[in-house]
Amino acid sequence: DVRVRFCPSPTGTPHVGLIRTALFNWAYARHTGGTLVFRIEDTDAARDSEESFDQIIEGLRWLRLDWDEGVGEGGPHAPYRQSERYGIYRDVIEKLKASGHIYESYATGEEIEARNVSLGRDPKMGYDNFERDITEAQREAYRAEGRSPALRLRVPDTDLSFDDLVRGEITFPAGSFSDFVVVRPNGHPLYPFVNPVDDALMGITHVLRGEDLLSSTPRQIALYHALIDIGLTTFVPRFGHLPYVMGEGNKKLSKRDPSSNLFHHRDRGFIPEGLVNYLALLGWSLTHDRDVFSIEEMVAAFDVVNVNPNPARFDLKKAESINGDHVRLLDHADFAERTIPYLVAAGVVQEPLNDREREILAEAAPLVQERIALLGEAPAMLGFLFTPAAELEYQEDARSSLPQNAGEILAAASGVLEEVPDAEWTHDRVHTALTEALIDGLGLKPRVAFGPLRVAVSGRRVSPPLFESMEILGKADSLDRLSRLAR
Ligand code: GLU
Repeated sequence: DVRVRFCPSPTGTPHVGLIRTALFNWAYARHTGGTLVFRIEDTDAARDSEESFDQIIEGLRWLRLDWDEGVGEGGPHAPYRQSERYGIYRDVIEKLKASGHIYESYATGEEIEARNVSLGRDPKMGYDNFERDITEAQREAYRAEGRSPALRLRVPDTDLSFDDLVRGEITFPAGSFSDFVVVRPNGHPLYPFVNPVDDALMGITHVLRGEDLLSSTPRQIALYHALIDIGLTTFVPRFGHLPYVMGEGNKKLSKRDPSSNLFHHRDRGFIPEGLVNYLALLGWSLTHDRDVFSIEEMVAAFDVVNVNPNPARFDLKKAESINGDHVRLLDHADFAERTIPYLVAAGVVQEPLNDREREILAEAAPLVQERIALLGEAPAMLGFLFTPAAELEYQEDARSSLPQNAGEILAAASGVLEEVPDAEWTHDRVHTALTEALIDGLGLKPRVAFGPLRVAVSGRRVSPPLFESMEILGKADSLDRLSRLAR
């Protein structure tokens, strides 16, 4: 059975690349009927934060990416936060020590450099494994100096190959890396150790993660062989390294770029359906000719072997357009409901909405749903409907767009609309009345005739459809708006 994992380190706000990794693991688990394990790799107290931990969970929940085992869910391999697993690591360390896979290393960084110099090599060459077989007497001597050892894994002196699920066969020739530190002198186990140990203990079958971790894979495989030898597991998992997410200037999408921040997109009004769809396209596609799909379609089709190894570019324009397509797929009531937090954040309404506000929203939502890509555009489009006529503000460009004869147009419009009975105040009726008076009567072009009305009603040059807006506002309010601008 497939067991995959998502194991972020809680540093900083969730990066879209990190969430893409979560999504691919999730989709692979759901596609295969496997298990997604959610583990937190918080062994770096200096960089980890509880705030970041909360944000990762909030992000996954928002996108509706659930997990089967792990933080918050529990499971047979609890605890799932590495900061709570030090006792487990200590046992594994003891076993690896007893079996000779890891050994004590006393040399400091300076001593390793000095040794390289004395051997006539580049000082930065790294460690040459010279302590592999130091004698007990030498160790005693180091201890007598008050030194504590780091622990290093004895890596095999052979080529290390693996068949990457995304990239195919990858080989690291013997000698590519030296025996590496798995435990610091202060007893603290490091990422290259705890990550594979937990994957082994948790029975992870497929490690799907970012390409930035590709270089740590051979070391982890070396450790896996040691773990198999001590009976901690029986197999090395498959690895699949997901492509980099690139930003501006063909560089990795930087943490400093706002586009890298998951919540930046939520705050602008991406909906989970749209963003998940776009994130899926960062390295994968459903078919060559269809960019818009549902998460169910993704699950049905997703296989990690179809992930494209080439770097994926984060294209905000494309993301927005895909989001717009998903916005239009929502049913009207759902769309209306989802705009509320954005209307509240913009100060257009306050929670809880009163009945009249709910009514306006329900009637107006379908009109804007067709016209926006991000929910964050809704307040500007809808705000005038919730603003009392007397407080409406006219945008600068709207005011300056008014023709010379705006007053005449507004007066003629008011005159004819006064005659429409309250009970017949519909957008059709308003439209007909205004067409007769302004187009037929005054001989104006529609754009000239209706422009000032739009400014009067909405304060803007671009708004949801004018006649529908007037229907929603009602006769009295609409007429107030026309006379207010005419004054
Ligand atoms: N905690 C690691 C990171 O966030 C995850 C490494 C992995 O997926 O193996 O970079």
